[in-house]
Amino acid sequence: MRVVRRLKEIRQLSRTLARPISLVPTMGALHDGHLALVGRARNTVGRQGSVVATIFVNPTQFGPHEDFGRYPRPIRQDLARLRERDCDIVFAPKAEDMYSADSSVSIQENKLSLVLCGASRPGHFSGVCTVVAKLFNLVSPDFAVFGQKDFQQLAILRRMVRDLNFPVQLISHPIVREADGLALSSRNVYLSAVQRSEAPVVQRVLRAAATKITKGFRGVARLENWMHRSIEASPLAKVDYVSVVDPDTLERKASLRPPILLAAAVFFGSTRLIDNYLLEK
Ligand code: AMP
Repeated sequence: MRVVRRLKEIRQLSRTLARPISLVPTMGALHDGHLALVGRARNTVGRQGSVVATIFVNPTQFGPHEDFGRYPRPIRQDLARLRERDCDIVFAPKAEDMYSADSSVSIQENKLSLVLCGASRPGHFSGVCTVVAKLFNLVSPDFAVFGQKDFQQLAILRRMVRDLNFPVQLISHPIVREADGLALSSRNVYLSAVQRSEAPVVQRVLRAAATKITKGFRGVARLENWMHRSIEASPLAKVDYVSVVDPDTLERKASLRPPILLAAAVFFGSTRLIDNYLLEK
């Protein structure tokens, strides 16, 4: 496994890498969810192809009062994990190399990014689109693998690829969870022991809501209210949003007829966790 830090080097290297190339963008602090994406990338390209993972805590996707400064950066441990997982190249650039001090161009998605996490985190998805577009330009991958945990991110990146004609195929991977149902996240390390034990309530309520839908429950607002109350039945949980939306447009559903995405963002103290449940047609 080769670790590359310079933009010029990754650009040159990607021209000579065996194709197809599969890219796995991450911010590091790798857990089994990230590693599952790396495994998926390998399955997609086979033994002949190349897997490139990136580790970059992207400053432009963090708001001014968010956790950019304290986001975990266990780079040695991350590299050891990737080495075990049959990754060919790790690209881990420095922020000052990725962004010029007077950088003035970014990518803005204007529809799907206005709702859900986009409403709570202005500028977040512009930062995500911009950094992913830059990684696509630097690595020229044939495939890029993203997790369904960040469902909205995936939907927005699909639009970006479609609307800006990036020659890359996006692959989505299901959410990897702890044994008690909590979605793996690099931010779970921020949780205190009691917050950690309460956090699976989000996934339990999303699943219970899906069961209600399949049993004929009526009323989108009624269901959202029920989910909100059920999550906040845990005294440590504070709902940011819990929404019943269309998985393609991310618009609020008019009825509880699948396909439906149940999406939630919930604070435990200052830690904001997201999760979702997809009910297909
Ligand atoms: P991050 O490092 O949080 O930016 O995540 C990098 C990639 O890993 C994104 O495509 C995420 O959707 C994906 N990811 C993070 N957590 C999980 C999880 N629990 N299951 C599946 N994919 C995940």
